[in-house]
Amino acid sequence: MFILLMGPPGAGKGTQADLLAEKCGVPHISTGDMFRAAVKAGTELGKEAKRYMDTGQLVPDAVTIGIIRESLSKKENQKGFILDGFPRTKEQAAALDGLLAELSVKLDAVIDIHVPGTELINRITGRRICKACGANYHALYNPPRADGICDKCGGVLYQRDDDRETTVKKRIEVYNEQTKPLIEYYSRHGQYTELDGTKGIKEVFAAILAILSSKKTHDNL
Ligand code: ADP
Ligand code: AMP
Repeated sequence: MFILLMGPPGAGKGTQADLLAEKCGVPHISTGDMFRAAVKAGTELGKEAKRYMDTGQLVPDAVTIGIIRESLSKKENQKGFILDGFPRTKEQAAALDGLLAELSVKLDAVIDIHVPGTELINRITGRRICKACGANYHALYNPPRADGICDKCGGVLYQRDDDRETTVKKRIEVYNEQTKPLIEYYSRHGQYTELDGTKGIKEVFAAILAILSSKKTHDNL
C-alpha cells in the first residue's frame, strides 16, 4: 500500500497518516518530521532546514529530495508507505515519480484533504506535539487526558516554533503558491481523490478507509 496524503498545512495529514500507519502497519514518512528530528539532533541538515522552517519557507528541493531518496532506499520503506508533506513543489513531484519508477512501484491512492484557511489557522495554532514521541494533539479538538502531558508516553507537549500565527500565514501563502499547483498534476493521476477534511478526526479517518477499501489497497481494511 503506497499512499500519498496531500493538503495544506494543518489539514490533518500527519494525524491521519499516524492512524493509518497504526492500523495497516506501514511506515509514516513525513519530511517535516525528518527535518524536526535533524534540528533536534543538531546536525548540519537540521541547521540548514531550521533557517527555512522558522520563516515558513520551503527547504530547498535538492536537500528535500535528498532526504526522501535516502528514506526510500531503506528496505523497510519499500513494502509500502504513507507519504505526508512531500512532494510540495513540481520538482519534488517529478523526483518522486522517478524514485517510484526505480522501485517499480505505483501510488495506490493520492488523497487530497481539503480544509478552508480560517480552520487551518485554528488547527495549526492549537497543535501540540509530544517532545518525546512526536504524538500530535490539539488544545481544543484533540486534547490529551492530562493538560500538557502525552497520553501515550507521558512526555511533555510543546508548540512548534513555526506554528505561531505569523509564520502560519506565511506557510499557507507558500502552500498556495508552490504546492497547490500540484493538485492539477495529481488530478490527472488515476488514483487521485479529493476529501472533505472539515469533519472530526474519526469521521475523516473513516472516509479515508472507505476510499482505500474502494481501491482495495490493503487486506486489513
Ligand atoms: P498536517 O500534518 O496536515 O499539518 P496535523 O495532522 O498535524 O496537520 O493536524 C493539525 C492540527 O489539527 C493538530 O493539532 C491535529 O490534532 C488537529 N486536527 C487534525 N485533524 C483534525 C480534524 N479532522 N478535526 C479537528 N482537528 C484536527
Ligand atoms: P510540516 O511538518 O509538513 O508542516 O513541515 C514543516 C516545515 O518543514 C515546512 O514549513 C518546511 O519548511 C519544511 N518542509 C517539510 N516538508 C518539506 C518539503 N517537502 N519541501 C520543502 N520543505 C519542507
